[in-house]
Amino acid sequence: MKNLFSRVYFSVSTTALIALLIGLTLTAVAFVSMRRSESEMHNQQFRTSANIRIAAVQGGLVDAVEQLRVVNQLFQVVGVVSAKQFHDFAAPLLQRYPQLQALSFQRTVTHAEREAFEAARRHADPAFRIVEMAGDQVRTAAIRPTYKVVDYIEPLAGNEAAVGLDTAVTSDQTAARRRSRASGLPTATGLLSIAQHKGWHTAFLIIAPVYRSGLQLDSVAQREAATIGETAAVFRIDNLIDTILDASGVRAEPGMVISIFASARPDPSQLAFREGRAGTLRQQTFSLLPYWLLVDRADPVAETFALAGSIWRMEVAQAEVSFLSNYNASLFVLLGGVLSSLLAAAYVYSLVSRDIVAERLVGERTVVLRTANLRLSEDLAQHVRTESALRLHERAIQVSPNAILICAATAPDYAIEYVNPAFERITGYSKADVLGRGLESMQGNGIDQQNLDEIRTCLREVREGHALMRNYRKDGTGYWSDLFIAPVRDERGAVIQFVFAQYDVSSIMRFEAELAYQARHDTLTGLANRMLFTERLGQAMKANQGDGAQIWVLFVDLDRFKFVNDTLGHEAGDELLKVLAARLQSAAAGVDTVARVGGDEFLVLLNESPDDGTGMAALRSIMDAVVLPLQVQGYEFILTCSIGVAIHPTDGDTAETLIKHADIAMYRAKELGRNTFQFYTRQMSERSLDRLNLETDLRYALERDEFVLHYQPQVSLRDGRIVGMEALIRWNHPLLGLIPPVRFIGLAEDMGLIVPIGLWVARTACLQVKAWQHAGLGELRVAVNLSPRQFMQKGLVQSIATVLSETGLAARYLELELTESMVMTDVDNAISILGELKNLGVPISIDDFGTGYSSLSYLRRFPLDVLKIDRSFINDVTSDANNAAIVVSIIALAHNLQLKVIAEGVETAEQLAFLRQHGCDQMQGYYFSRPVPAPEFEQLLHQGRCLPMLASL
Ligand code: C2E
Ligand code: CA
Ligand code: CA
Repeated sequence: MKNLFSRVYFSVSTTALIALLIGLTLTAVAFVSMRRSESEMHNQQFRTSANIRIAAVQGGLVDAVEQLRVVNQLFQVVGVVSAKQFHDFAAPLLQRYPQLQALSFQRTVTHAEREAFEAARRHADPAFRIVEMAGDQVRTAAIRPTYKVVDYIEPLAGNEAAVGLDTAVTSDQTAARRRSRASGLPTATGLLSIAQHKGWHTAFLIIAPVYRSGLQLDSVAQREAATIGETAAVFRIDNLIDTILDASGVRAEPGMVISIFASARPDPSQLAFREGRAGTLRQQTFSLLPYWLLVDRADPVAETFALAGSIWRMEVAQAEVSFLSNYNASLFVLLGGVLSSLLAAAYVYSLVSRDIVAERLVGERTVVLRTANLRLSEDLAQHVRTESALRLHERAIQVSPNAILICAATAPDYAIEYVNPAFERITGYSKADVLGRGLESMQGNGIDQQNLDEIRTCLREVREGHALMRNYRKDGTGYWSDLFIAPVRDERGAVIQFVFAQYDVSSIMRFEAELAYQARHDTLTGLANRMLFTERLGQAMKANQGDGAQIWVLFVDLDRFKFVNDTLGHEAGDELLKVLAARLQSAAAGVDTVARVGGDEFLVLLNESPDDGTGMAALRSIMDAVVLPLQVQGYEFILTCSIGVAIHPTDGDTAETLIKHADIAMYRAKELGRNTFQFYTRQMSERSLDRLNLETDLRYALERDEFVLHYQPQVSLRDGRIVGMEALIRWNHPLLGLIPPVRFIGLAEDMGLIVPIGLWVARTACLQVKAWQHAGLGELRVAVNLSPRQFMQKGLVQSIATVLSETGLAARYLELELTESMVMTDVDNAISILGELKNLGVPISIDDFGTGYSSLSYLRRFPLDVLKIDRSFINDVTSDANNAAIVVSIIALAHNLQLKVIAEGVETAEQLAFLRQHGCDQMQGYYFSRPVPAPEFEQLLHQGRCLPMLASL
């Protein structure tokens, strides 16, 4: 009896113990797997934010080096730079790039020159002498064959002590100086300490040699001989990195350790910068467990990069932190699991010990009964085991901060059987809303769901998987999650359910979305751009399989927008576009995507259900919305638009084809007199496989005499008089009106028509100018644009010679405009053609200067006469210090090379004043006059129109 009792008692406690153990094991498994995914997520997040910081620092450093290059160019261009010029030039750069501590020029002075140099400097500063440092003391420099004297430094305030300092003895700089002279490139020194604001700071210099201009610089010896000194930029590293990180808004996060080394390896002696401190937890403390179990510490991310001839290394690591400070889902699982295991064990214990009493009463029964009892308790244990495990799971699921959903494993519905409280909280759907519903009904409208396929495949193949998903709340708003799916099996291994868990990845996605947004939207109007539109159209087409539904692609082009733009200026034009964009968006409201794909071109995507007429209605409401009066700068306008429509699936099965066909239909609408719409038909394409009939029409434009030249005056900034003009072609199309050159020059190039057209331009321009000269209107010169194809053509020189002799114009009055890229693609050939043209006596100008290779020194090799500074620099020359500096450099460089400088696209008096002040020779631009037809130009000449000369100049 006693025996029996103890055996029963034993089996009771064993049963409870087993229940407990099973509970704890399951808890441990759940905890470990949850920690594993948390740790991976943590790693991933960290890697992203580390990479952002590395990219910011690298970009900032490269920017900083670029500033030195700009300063250096000043010397290259101006030759002998005065202290004032240096100040004028460097001050705005320093202001713009606060990461620059100072800019200086160190002049090489030989001993023979020393006395004269010191005497010259004493005019401005009677105490001037070349000095050197002896420990902390400043003393007159000892006699040496050469000195590298700090001649100018900016800002001067705070750096007075550096002026006159001989840096030749500063061994820190010697190696870098030698390397920079050998390579001719900006070169970084190693780390050094500088005293500033009463403290010592780690710093480095970037040095770039300055050469006497006009000398050969091909070999090291030649460069050595030509060196007159070097420019140096001083960077205090803490400031530099702080500024860069601040500017990009990416300071170190708590626990992040950023280290930057001025070496390829993490050499502590080359540690340039460190932010953040390594944590206190030691990994070895729990050497028995994988450390990610209790500690979050992402793997460090390191990157090396080249900086002015040195290799630098940046590391972003993370202090160890207990996982509790980042995540608590796993803790809840752990606590919940332990608690429910204990409860389950206690329950088993009480359940079974109650049975002990009963068992004692029947204790004397037979062996058979005893066996039966034992079997009973085993069944019970089994029962309790399953029950406790279930409860454990449920508890874990209930407290999980991640949304969890369980559905039946029965296709095709996969009816939802359970959702946890987090699901209700996050999605806004209550249990009652979703239980029993099919899974697919939860997937939004299918848009943005490229990854849905992965989940579907998992369901079909009954396996685990995960995918990044866009989810939709009950209120329709979306959010991102990493969605995990896993099949659930019963004890026989059959799959009965699927469980889904969503991990919130909104913050990563927000960052990525920001980048993606920028790449996919038009900055002016905020509408989608062509890329996004094409994507959306592709998705819509994919979703549109069969059921008679259509997708309409509308190509909307504003009529005569260019006219408004030209009359009112670009700002007003931009304003108009914004208003129209908003109107289009609301006219197509709720339906669909509106994109801006060109200056005044928009695309609209409409989903048309069979026979419900929404497409037609939207089309009309768009036309109505555009035609409403517009108010800009006190003027009232009415704009109209022409619309072409292509329909999926009938008019094309790729996004590109549909857009192209809509475009063709739009042109047809224009041909029909504008302010109307046209549906694409195959005939339209047959008539013009490409953009409307431009191609066929272009072929005959020459013989039908449809081209005209407009002339834009070029004005001398010295006396304000018209000295010449640029001839600009236009195509007077019988249906489309005046077509600007950008629309057809490329096409003409492709079709090989540019050579005869170009010849026509040259001949017409020469005849015209000859006629004006003959009429006594002045010794005018005409500039004619050459296209790349023309420049490469064999008989160019011969045909120009023929034009000149046939028209009787002296060669010096015809100027040919080439672009940088034309001469740079085949330099030798270009040099020989330019040589021949030069022999003819034709001046050559470089058009759009600054937008191509911008290799200033390279241009020396070509026999050029004029440099035309591109419009884009002139545009913000008064507001952008950087562009201003570039323009000043270009003017100085050009003069140095004996070239005349003409500024294009001058639109304001301020721009004009700036150009005058910096010695630009001529200007061309709307400020004085737009390109005008010959009769109008002639009037300008008759009137003797001049650029007003300001009294002060
Ligand atoms: P481009 O050679 O740079 O010509 C200057 C363009 O700037 C002209 O545009 C002119 O109207 C415009 N422009 C002039 N002043 C201003 C201003 O103050 N503000 C603004 N916003 N724009 C100004 P256009 O006439 O439309 O010509 C465009 C381009 O077409 C020309 O650029 C040139 O590359 C090409 N092109 C024009 N005529 C010919 C030609 O006969 N042959 C060849 N091959 N190309 C030509
Ligand atoms: Ca031009
Ligand atoms: Ca130009």
